[in-house]
Amino acid sequence: MKMGGRPGPMRARYSLFLFMLVIACNDATDKGTSKAINSKIPEIATPSFNQDSAYIFIKKQVDIGPRVPNSPAQDSCAKFFIKKLRSFNLDVTTQEGQVTGHDGLKLRFINIIASSNPKALNRILLCAHWDTRPIAERDIVRQNEPIPGANDGASGAGVLLEIGRLLGETPPNIGVDIVLFDVEDYGKPNVTDSYCLGSQYWSKAALAKGYYPKYGILLDMVGAKDAQFYLEGYSMKFAPHIIKKVWKTAANLGYSNHFEFKQTPAVTDDHLYVNTMAKIPCINIIQYDPLTPTNFGSYWHTHNDNMEIIDKATLKAVGQTILEVVYSEN
Ligand SMILES: [Zn+2]
Repeated sequence: MKMGGRPGPMRARYSLFLFMLVIACNDATDKGTSKAINSKIPEIATPSFNQDSAYIFIKKQVDIGPRVPNSPAQDSCAKFFIKKLRSFNLDVTTQEGQVTGHDGLKLRFINIIASSNPKALNRILLCAHWDTRPIAERDIVRQNEPIPGANDGASGAGVLLEIGRLLGETPPNIGVDIVLFDVEDYGKPNVTDSYCLGSQYWSKAALAKGYYPKYGILLDMVGAKDAQFYLEGYSMKFAPHIIKKVWKTAANLGYSNHFEFKQTPAVTDDHLYVNTMAKIPCINIIQYDPLTPTNFGSYWHTHNDNMEIIDKATLKAVGQTILEVVYSEN
């Protein structure tokens, strides 16, 4: 008998022990690793956007009346937002003050900020303007009266309210800040920087405060029937990777009928100032209609911008896409 021959019973037992130890260790390591990953980044299923709820939030704003700066409706609607967003368990603050309109008039503004996971460092910004245009310059009647602003104003804020409700119910892994900008639509065409006064104020303050979310998504005119959203010029200039990611998400969810992969001219809107003043890459989901002369639908800045043009299918497409983007972040 030579050493190193057939393993004796002792050696066989030792090998078996080693083998089992390796298995046990591997098992422990696997469990440990997957546990560590799970406790760090739990997978949270994307909630379902409720278009009926969003529709009611839009109608509520329209029922309050045109949300024109310095009007009682401005005050009531701000109170409605604050109360609603607080009821969703979000951290709600306001930013109030006065800005000067193109006509020299002092305009009160109320920007409303609602945060989910306020302490999270990794954040994204979702925003929309909530005021309505004080004139109906595109209409043929009552041109000096304010518009209902169901699509231009209430739709973006309504979709964000519904998203706020779901963020409160099922907090995502990241922090989310919903910002409702006031006094976007008081401007005069061809008067530089006369639009977006609420967001200009907010953007300067955000930069001063060092607020820097990963990116922002602005919603404007997101409720009309068969609305289409194109790759808007400033979004492509400042945040092409974000807009493409959002459009791809929409396509994956089956909403390509609303989200077109074609670029259109830049639109001066709140996201321009969020990009240039707050230095936050921000895109704009804004309706574009190549078949109407204004590109924003025949009802744009007219008294026909009312609940009749709002369609739940559009609200669902936009709301679900944003939720999918938010809940896939970690
Ligand atoms: Zn407008």
